[in-house]
Amino acid sequence: MNDLDLLITWFATLDKIGANEDGSFSRLGYTDTEDAMIATVLGFSELLGFGCYTDEVGNTFIYDKALGDNSKVERTLIASHVDSVVSGGKYDGVAGVLAGLIVLKRIKEQGLNIPVHVGIFRMEESSVFGIATTGSKLVSGQITEATLKNAKEQNGVSLYDRIKECGFNPNPPKITGLKQYLELHIEQGRVLESKGLKLGVVSSIAAPVRMWVKFTGKQDHSGATPMDIRKDSLVAAAELVIHVEQAATNELNNASVGTTGIIRNTPNVFNVVPGETTLGLDIRGIDKASRQRVLESVELKAKQLAEKRGLELDINKVSSSDPVKLSTDLQNKLSAAANKLNIEHIVMPSGAGHDAMNFVDICPVGMLFIPCVDGISHNKLESASIADIVAGCDVLMEYLKSN
Ligand SMILES: [Zn+2]
Repeated sequence: MNDLDLLITWFATLDKIGANEDGSFSRLGYTDTEDAMIATVLGFSELLGFGCYTDEVGNTFIYDKALGDNSKVERTLIASHVDSVVSGGKYDGVAGVLAGLIVLKRIKEQGLNIPVHVGIFRMEESSVFGIATTGSKLVSGQITEATLKNAKEQNGVSLYDRIKECGFNPNPPKITGLKQYLELHIEQGRVLESKGLKLGVVSSIAAPVRMWVKFTGKQDHSGATPMDIRKDSLVAAAELVIHVEQAATNELNNASVGTTGIIRNTPNVFNVVPGETTLGLDIRGIDKASRQRVLESVELKAKQLAEKRGLELDINKVSSSDPVKLSTDLQNKLSAAANKLNIEHIVMPSGAGHDAMNFVDICPVGMLFIPCVDGISHNKLESASIADIVAGCDVLMEYLKSN
């Protein structure tokens, strides 16, 4: 079977795991469905004759025993994840893991001596505990025990306890022996599609600051309270939503973005002036100074709005990580490999976070994007071309063979 057909078969097999009736997939990290995804991918790899090992946090690595039989060999790691958000798509993460497996298969078929391990990192998505790229953060030393204990799902269980419940160690040793880290991923945006391109070489990865902004005013009767004595928390929040958009748009040239993704309004009924409104903000960028300007502008505006309307203000940052630059050398070499194969491409930043970002202080990191239809991801409509995944594998192989 050729690689394209093999990938089609693999995706079709995985389609049965965590499938929802509406065509989406729910494969949450550190759950049975993620376990089933990993076990199924290991099934594919066993048929190809590969071995595997699992680290202390449950990340799984696939390798060719003929090219060094343990995790201590200096190796190229090609990795991504197989978990999804609630009602997510089938290509986010999975495309990168299966691409790695295709590369490993080709290395074996061609009798090459290139030690590659294919990694499947646990819980890349942040939808349950609010922390993204958990498995790769754990083994790259990017997360503290306090953060794991503070991150709680709705029923109050912490991520720290969840990891322990699954039989893993929340304080694992740092990963060693990496020569370089490579990842293929769907773009999750519309840049490649809008340019009619099949490949992007990633230059940097934006990182979000996430925060809650809470305005507390006074709940009053909507009929009996004159306009001039109200303390309406929702109106202040509304003004801040507009300001988040404006502050980020002012940094358009530096590619910073700002989003109000959540509004929690109390009591949220027809006849009461809102007394408490909380906004969930996500502000990110690849230029830290630019992102900081957006952040400071939003914080200042929130203070001014609270003062103007006599409200209490509470700002609570939930997470903040730094944007990272990927290896320039790898960007050049991946571009050269694509050129050699006549695959037209661009060098571009990633607006979304990926496991790759956690390895920049450990080894050179390179990343490839393939387009996804309409830029849609984290949704049942997420779609990508298997042929584009194969083309991505071609570029990875070309690079690995000539370097
Ligand atoms: Zn992903």
